[in-house]
Amino acid sequence: MAKKSPIRRFADFRWEGTDVLAYKEEGSAPFKAITRQTLFHDPALKGELRYFEMASGGYSTLERHDHMHAVLILRGEGECLIGGEVHKVGTNDLVTIEPWTWHQFRANAGQPLGFLCMVNAERDKPSLPSEDERKAMEADPVIAAFLNGPAHK
Ligand code: MN
Repeated sequence: MAKKSPIRRFADFRWEGTDVLAYKEEGSAPFKAITRQTLFHDPALKGELRYFEMASGGYSTLERHDHMHAVLILRGEGECLIGGEVHKVGTNDLVTIEPWTWHQFRANAGQPLGFLCMVNAERDKPSLPSEDERKAMEADPVIAAFLNGPAHK
């Protein structure tokens, strides 16, 4: 058997020997135009490192959960909703998403948005907002514009 190299080279936001996968199971939750590469996943590690990339106009699922996310924006610009606030984010910014905080990333700046995301290997399943919870979020016009903006199709 060929020995696995400790180095996997990077080119054009792909890593050697790493599959570009669907973000989540289709139909499991709302999302658009987003892919996933699992960069580190090993039984010897308590964490995982993934790279997610949205095409322009894409977005991740609006969700919350008990586990934390530690995010490094690696490509492009866009916005993220964290709790009650919308933030502009760009390459090399770090984003902390605390437990049970609503969050969503949107590639709404006319370009792709890609980020590394570190999580616990063992983690709980995300919760999606109820209709009432979504309505409550949309009571803030800034959040409504983010959730239902031009990138929302
Ligand atoms: Mn999440």
